[in-house]
Amino acid sequence: ETISIGELAKELKKQPKDIIMKLMNLGVMATLNQDIDFETAEMIAIEYGISVSKKLTEEEIEEKRYNFEDRPEDLTKRAPVVTVMGHVDHGKTSLLDAIRNTSVTTGEAGGITQHIGASEVSLKGEKIVFLDTPGHEAFTTLRARGAKVTDIAILVVAADDGVMPQTIEAIDHAKAAGVPIIVAVNKIDKANANPDRVKQELADRGLLIEEWGGDVISVEVSAIKNIGIDTLLEMVLLVAEMLELKANPKRPALGTILEAKVEKGRGPVATVLIENGTLRVGDPVAAGATHGRVRAMFNSHGKTIKQAGPASAVEITGLNDVPTAGDKFYATEEERHARAMAEKRQAELRVSTLRKTPHISLEDLFNQISQGQIKDLNIIVKADAHGSVEALKTSLNKITNEEVRVNVIHANVGTITESDILLASASNAIIIGFNVRPSAVVASLAENEGVELKTYRIIYEAISDVEAAMKGMLAPIY
Ligand code: GDP
Repeated sequence: ETISIGELAKELKKQPKDIIMKLMNLGVMATLNQDIDFETAEMIAIEYGISVSKKLTEEEIEEKRYNFEDRPEDLTKRAPVVTVMGHVDHGKTSLLDAIRNTSVTTGEAGGITQHIGASEVSLKGEKIVFLDTPGHEAFTTLRARGAKVTDIAILVVAADDGVMPQTIEAIDHAKAAGVPIIVAVNKIDKANANPDRVKQELADRGLLIEEWGGDVISVEVSAIKNIGIDTLLEMVLLVAEMLELKANPKRPALGTILEAKVEKGRGPVATVLIENGTLRVGDPVAAGATHGRVRAMFNSHGKTIKQAGPASAVEITGLNDVPTAGDKFYATEEERHARAMAEKRQAELRVSTLRKTPHISLEDLFNQISQGQIKDLNIIVKADAHGSVEALKTSLNKITNEEVRVNVIHANVGTITESDILLASASNAIIIGFNVRPSAVVASLAENEGVELKTYRIIYEAISDVEAAMKGMLAPIY
């Protein structure tokens, strides 16, 4: 078993070049990406007065094994995972209901869909997984916890209402995540529906649908009258085809916890989205700080199943405690490995409650640029007036130097919200507020997430602060 110099450096919190020097002193010539054996690694650690021993690595070896690259010949096509987003009351929930109802397959007809956090539907034998909690907040919360589960976003826009503030948020959240959007223009059954206006407004917002010469697919639907739902699903499959989604069913399962709770008589119950590999009843598993063996497994129709492959949403029992939504999930070969991983996570959590891991900040920007840690400075702009939003966005987007480029990932009129903080956390962005202030709740969320939030009353000051920070010349705050 081996470890690369880079990984060892990270583990010991030393510079790789120092490790390489130490190795040279031991008579070992090595480069950054080279693997060395554990005996040698241990000697280096001892040199630094750190006792690593084999214990350092058991769970790490395990984790590495589960993050290994799949061999191309083991990869097969997998189903897409879809999130529905859009403004409140535009019909997200109704659309999800319509989708579930149209695609109930014969075997499951009459069966009640269980709420497990995700549903699997099928169209012409092709599967699609829908996350049951609609909205960009849920999507970005998972992302802020490091889980990237969504492949495609369906943006619902009501044809009688048009593009609204949360429509814009949803667009920016999906774009920040690099997730392709399919537009569902909903409520076309209504007398005052105006789909053309919706498309025009989307174009104004930089989301160019096909009719406007762009590459974003849009479908006119009515969730209530069941119009266009099949076409929408076909478009999802089309986009999925272009994404060439693949997974390796032969490896042990790897996924993300979507929901978890305790149920009387069943103990901890968790919904897992299996992203890769195959999960079987009896497999030892770790989920965040919890572990156990899969005792029973159910699909979204409540049916007992023995195994589930990539892109499946399943409910499992058998964990020793309730994991958190967004936790990473691993099946392991041996139970002790699962336990070791859970214990490591517990230890990390204990440390992280004491010492938060901050995201980017203006004060630290230059440092991070110099170390080559960042190439993009992501900024979210919130202001009290449309004119200020545009002025800030335009000026900030122009700021650039050789090392780093400013990217305004979201800019909108209004106060700073929890959803802005989550987006900043998920995208390592800072938030600039102009003539707007966060509420106490939002400010404390920002602190918990380690997100920097700066408010200004003069546009010029905001811009010159960012410029100065990029050059490492920001005046220190006393
Ligand atoms: P959400 O807040 O985005 O989840 O929206 P809902 O699904 O709760 O829908 C909000 C309202 O719009 C409800 O009263 C729905 O009945 C109605 N609605 C949803 N889709 C349609 C539709 O296609 N046509 C019509 N006429 N009403 C709809």
